[in-house]
Amino acid sequence: MHDSKDFLSELQGRGFRLTRARKAIVTFLACIDAPQSIPEILEALRKKGLLFNKTTVYRELAFLVKEGVAKEVRVSDEKRYYELAGEHHHHTICMRCGDIRDVLFRENLLHVERVLLERDGFRVLEHSLEFFGLCSVCKS
Ligand SMILES: [Zn+2]
Ligand SMILES: [Zn+2]
Repeated sequence: MHDSKDFLSELQGRGFRLTRARKAIVTFLACIDAPQSIPEILEALRKKGLLFNKTTVYRELAFLVKEGVAKEVRVSDEKRYYELAGEHHHHTICMRCGDIRDVLFRENLLHVERVLLERDGFRVLEHSLEFFGLCSVCKS
């Protein structure tokens, strides 16, 4: 969960206009704590009576990613999800129903990054980690 106002006022502060689509997408992503696909975003906005075409939403998301407001979560070549940039975390993805969720670890893999640096001389700048498996509904 995020405060959408922070992201919106930051964009405004950088001189960007808050278009209707921009506002709607950021507000929607801020109130949900799992990454969303473009069809899911379109559907959620449609339910609120906000009609946008796919291209508009796609273009807005590309803008938000470029400006560091949103992040793209790439599950496969064809499956992309979007979430607001925030605290670093990972994802679980159900291979049967496709349910995707945020997971937070207190340790956050810093020890793994340290091993890579000390043992292999590799300096990690960032990482993304997705766990694929079966969700609690699908596994039973
Ligand atoms: Zn599932
Ligand atoms: Zn996430």
